[in-house]
Amino acid sequence: MANKSQEVTVIVGGGHAAGALLAALLQSRYQHEVVLVGEEPHPPYQRPPLSKNYLAGEVEQESLYLKPRSVYENAGYQLRLGVRVDQIDRDNKTVRLSDNSMIRYDRLVLATGSQVRRLRSPGAELKGIYYLHDIADADALREELVPGKRLVIVGGGFVGLEVAASAVKKGVGVTVLEAAERLMQRVTGPEMSAFFYARHHDAGVDIRLDTGVTGFATGDQGRVAGVTLANGDMVPADIVLVSIGVIPDTALAEAAGLACDGGILVDEFTRTDDPAILAIGDCTRHRNLFFEDRLRLESVANAVDQARTAAAVLMGEEKPYDSVPWFWSNQYDIRLQMIGLSPGHDQRVMHGSPADKGFAVFYLRDGCVIAVDAVNLPIAFMVGKQLVQRRQAVSPGVLSDPHTDLKSLL
Ligand SMILES: Cc1cc2nc3c(=O)[nH]c(=O)nc-3n(C[C@H](O)[C@H](O)[C@H](O)COP(=O)(O)OP(=O)(O)OC[C@H]3O[C@@H](n4cnc5c(N)ncnc54)[C@H](O)[C@@H]3O)c2cc1C
Repeated sequence: MANKSQEVTVIVGGGHAAGALLAALLQSRYQHEVVLVGEEPHPPYQRPPLSKNYLAGEVEQESLYLKPRSVYENAGYQLRLGVRVDQIDRDNKTVRLSDNSMIRYDRLVLATGSQVRRLRSPGAELKGIYYLHDIADADALREELVPGKRLVIVGGGFVGLEVAASAVKKGVGVTVLEAAERLMQRVTGPEMSAFFYARHHDAGVDIRLDTGVTGFATGDQGRVAGVTLANGDMVPADIVLVSIGVIPDTALAEAAGLACDGGILVDEFTRTDDPAILAIGDCTRHRNLFFEDRLRLESVANAVDQARTAAAVLMGEEKPYDSVPWFWSNQYDIRLQMIGLSPGHDQRVMHGSPADKGFAVFYLRDGCVIAVDAVNLPIAFMVGKQLVQRRQAVSPGVLSDPHTDLKSLL
């Protein structure tokens, strides 16, 4: 891009948040020099398909890219891929890369995302044990998912269950081991957990709840042969996926002395405690005007919304981050859409029933809607968004009446 000023903005990380930031800067015709440093060899891409249609072999790798690399480069933005930022020197405003080069910055944006939580149990290094976070992980796992193989998934959260649905479609035998007493316990209520349990069970997935894992059994040639359980049993496996959550990638920020506490601490403008450094996406614990506490979210919506706020800050505008958190998951023919955060509710109200084509669970606190989980019922999600945003009180009787026109609540 011609006529760029000498001010340099460096983005660390090449994931969804970084991609959304580049897109917002492109849209705003940001005139400064921009350099993105990403450890992965790909331009920014979307991860959700990695456990869904990409894993099932239904879409090509290029379709994951948020934009082709040439779009950024044609705009004059530089992508340095396959290389890490190893160190931030805040006094001299430079970053050092893993190829030993240095880049000077005026503004730095950390978008380092998260890393999978690893199991350290005996046998954890055996071949055939997988994690799923990036394209390389998905490609390796996809190769293994052939009809007749036995896949054991450790963890009954979103990613584990999405992989279960994708693998079953490919004729793989699937067992899910979950330590908690119900599926997706951290993020949803018992009705939704029971619904997903039933759908997976009907599809032939063997789900074992309240099941602790102690390690892995060794088979031939250093390959995993099974997963050992706290009750002494062993579940035979040809392939294992460990999917027990992620941890924010804050190492670089911490080493640079930035304030971190379960994520890089940022305000509602994505600003860290260093005025020259912003942080966005999974790696942050942010202040959102909508909530009293600081939050750390692992979602595309959060990555995109924080990226837009950061772009505004870079453009010299102040648009605080105040979006209501939302999330989705696709499993089989189910589209789950979640708005708000349900922990802390004191009442749950079902609208419709799992026997219907679509239904929803409304979560209330002190009579006001704080979250909605909708299954194949986009209208409940859309109306729920407004209700949550307004913290609107709604009578449980009205919500539970299947004849209520949800739009009339607004
Ligand atoms: C399998 C899977 C399925 C998912 N499904 C959904 C879904 O259905 N809905 C939803 O809302 N969310 C979903 N998510 C979560 C969503 O993808 C993340 O919340 C989102 O990707 C966060 O974006 P991010 O840019 O903050 O972090 P990431 O996407 O994790 O990107 C961070 C990037 O920074 C790079 N990096 C880190 N440190 C450095 C460094 N020092 N130097 C250079 N590069 C560095 C990393 O290699 C990585 O590429 C899913 C995630 C996974 C893994």
